[in-house]
Amino acid sequence: KFITFEGGEGSGKSTQAALLVTRLRRLGIAVVQTREPGGSPGAEAVRHVLLSGAAKPLGAETEAMLFAAARADHLERTIRPALARGAWVVCDRFADSTRVYQGAVGKVDPAVIRALERVTVGDTVPDLTLVLDLPAEAGLARAAGRREGADADRFEAEDVSFHARLRDAYRAIAAAEPERCAVIDASPAPQRISDEVWTVVCARLGA
Ligand code: C5P
Repeated sequence: KFITFEGGEGSGKSTQAALLVTRLRRLGIAVVQTREPGGSPGAEAVRHVLLSGAAKPLGAETEAMLFAAARADHLERTIRPALARGAWVVCDRFADSTRVYQGAVGKVDPAVIRALERVTVGDTVPDLTLVLDLPAEAGLARAAGRREGADADRFEAEDVSFHARLRDAYRAIAAAEPERCAVIDASPAPQRISDEVWTVVCARLGA
């Protein structure tokens, strides 16, 4: 099974991915935990180009193609081999992040986003996408509190309207694809969110 976590900045994706992986492993399920951009040596190198600022400025489409290139390598080297041997894959961000960041709140034509997704993802569509949903103000506050590293600069427009647009875009995806997506309230404490995630995973995927 292929599970992705999506959501805006500060929504707790990484924490929830780790908690879910722990629960699955406790059941004896083989799980590969991974993330985007990155998740394979080539894709991590592209992540560095995208997030370090080393190659600034990049055009919006160039940037989208780099995210797509990273995803293609990640799928080829990490995700598809894991699924092929029967492991579960839990991924922190995936193609919906490109739909949202480069598409809905970015500058790239939706037709280009769709074409890139078709080429990279193909039929390796997640079985379940957990959209961690948080009011914009809360996401902004949480993200700002942890902002320090080199990754922090380029992408994080520090305003509520940006976070609100991220949230709306994610909710629109979830509404359009309810079989794949589940919206999870990311306001409670991590353990409670994790319980909710677990309920959804069991109900939808029969873990
Ligand atoms: O998941 P994480 O927050 O570490 O992602 C790193 C940054 O990359 C995020 O701040 C996000 O804004 C940005 N990003 C992006 N487009 C994507 C994926 C991530 O702009 N497709």
